[in-house]
Amino acid sequence: MFSPERILDYYGIYYVRAGSKLRINCPFHTEQNASCYIDKNFSWFCFGCARHGSLADFLEQISSENKKKFAGLNSLQKMLECATILRKARAGSIAEYIKPACAEKKNVQEEKENRLKAWQHYTGLPAVDWGKPLKGEQGEAQEYILGRGFEPWLLNRSGCKYNYNSRYPLIWPIGDNGRFKGWVARTTAAGQEPKYLYNHGFAKRSCLAGLYGSSETVVVTEGLLDRLKLNQAGIVKDAVALLGWHMSEQQEQRLKSAGVKRIICALDNDDAGSRGLARLAESFDVLQWRYPIGVKDLGELSGEKLKAVCSTNLSLFAR
Ligand SMILES: [Zn+2]
Repeated sequence: MFSPERILDYYGIYYVRAGSKLRINCPFHTEQNASCYIDKNFSWFCFGCARHGSLADFLEQISSENKKKFAGLNSLQKMLECATILRKARAGSIAEYIKPACAEKKNVQEEKENRLKAWQHYTGLPAVDWGKPLKGEQGEAQEYILGRGFEPWLLNRSGCKYNYNSRYPLIWPIGDNGRFKGWVARTTAAGQEPKYLYNHGFAKRSCLAGLYGSSETVVVTEGLLDRLKLNQAGIVKDAVALLGWHMSEQQEQRLKSAGVKRIICALDNDDAGSRGLARLAESFDVLQWRYPIGVKDLGELSGEKLKAVCSTNLSLFAR
């Protein structure tokens, strides 16, 4: 039924479990260490800024959109408005149900530390609303990413932030079926290599970026941005990025143990993509994604064309 986790996922806020409570970086003041606690009824208190309140208070303050909605309402009307937001959160979240590094016990110390550092770096950056005009270098990064056909709601929902690194200004968290694995930053400068920068110690080979295992079929892309385009077209579950063209043995094992049997291969429409497809076909039943002529990857598609390509492909593969 009611789940504080869902609300936090919906707004792209990462949490750590602290006993029966959830601990988050306070969205209402700037902080490096999470000091805001939320209980299972969503009663919350921040030890940093002493703000506190109910779910309604939280939702009212969390976005300017909500603030407008709540303005002038009495408490009953506010509760009804909360119920609507809860319904939306249940239905529409594409947040990756990321759980932070410290929840992970099995991994070796160094990997744990790298992941924790990555989590601190990412959560320490302020949230960005990509729908509002930004200034200076942030504005340039915004112009770049919107120019590639990414819609502001998708950028907000996927946790895209400004990285304060002029060569790699855009950063996303990477979640593997609900678990925070690290972050990836994207360059916006033509000719800058590599195009993607990962956090120190990040192991691509043991990570699948996205959600999988809710059905036997999964759509596979190369890059995280390609997978985000799938999300933008409404394909949220069962869509993962390999973070390269070659599926590793560890990635194969993860898919198999999640019950995946069939792969819709949306790797790039080039030589490396074909090699990647052959690799996938060694272990799974593979169907090949159809691209319009001249299109190299999902990242190039946007708007209505993106939606049309995705729905055509899905209907091709539906039984
Ligand atoms: Zn606070």
